[in-house]
Amino acid sequence: MTGARALEGQVFFITGGAAGIGLETALQAQALGAKVAICDLDRDAVDRAVHAVGPDAAGFVVDVAEFDQVRAAFDGAIERFGRVDVVVANAGIGPPIETVLTVDPEAWDRVLAVNLFGVFNTVRAGMEQVVANHGQFILVSSSYAFMNGVLNSSYATAKAGVEALGRSLRAELEPRGASATVAYFGWIKTALVRDAFEDPVVDRFRKEAVPTFLTRQIPVSRAGRALIEAAIKRPPRVIVPFEWKALFFLRGLIGPLVDRRFEADPQVAEIVREAEARTGRNG
Ligand code: NAD
Repeated sequence: MTGARALEGQVFFITGGAAGIGLETALQAQALGAKVAICDLDRDAVDRAVHAVGPDAAGFVVDVAEFDQVRAAFDGAIERFGRVDVVVANAGIGPPIETVLTVDPEAWDRVLAVNLFGVFNTVRAGMEQVVANHGQFILVSSSYAFMNGVLNSSYATAKAGVEALGRSLRAELEPRGASATVAYFGWIKTALVRDAFEDPVVDRFRKEAVPTFLTRQIPVSRAGRALIEAAIKRPPRVIVPFEWKALFFLRGLIGPLVDRRFEADPQVAEIVREAEARTGRNG
């Protein structure tokens, strides 16, 4: 990382900026001299985040699933700060912990609407500014982009889509002097993960089916730092924590092995049955 005011003059636009990784990124960006537009669903949460970040922040109530709302927030950010340089498409929700057989289709669709189409809406609405300012998109994906999403199919599908979108985007933008990074996180200590881990099915899956070294949770400050580094250095990807880097680069080998393990493991089959049984919708 470069100097203490490395982001002086830059304007960040962060979706899901009122909590978790988004808020942490807003705080770290401001500390390095950036101005920050914070977008999130709830007025009170947005106001609290703006207060925490300080006078160089502005808040916008936005559902990223609605293109017009994202567009209006960009207009507001430009009115307030004059420009947008770095767009962090971070807003996301956890998935229903269910199988494709039992999941409510509307709940499945909502995860795609926020976690994939919300990212597209954010990119599309911010495109003019990022291209004009030779800026940067940071698309928050997940290790689920390349790991098996059993009981999480909506989330894994969305995050794989975000990865594909980010890779395409980078190739399209580089010749124009702008760029895009895909961010892959393992487990970061936020409300999203805390809520997921409180689910007994997730807890059982994590303890019985996943190798312990892949269940490590790290502080949100580390995730924020990775996104700030992405804004400064513009790599194709950031992967945090480091154990997931090995899995990313070995995905062609390890992915099929994990798939095979999950489809053949009686414990996984039992956990899947437990998840289906509790919905009462498994026929
Ligand atoms: P979080 O729940 O702490 O924060 C997410 C924020 O997004 C919340 O403030 C929420 O209100 C906001 N949000 C949700 N839906 C929105 C919508 N439709 N429009 C606008 N804002 C919306 O979660 P987090 O852990 O900070 O997650 C941030 C991103 O990181 C998500 O995309 C998540 O999928 C991704 N991610 C997180 C982890 C992790 O371990 N925490 C791992 C991989 C990827």
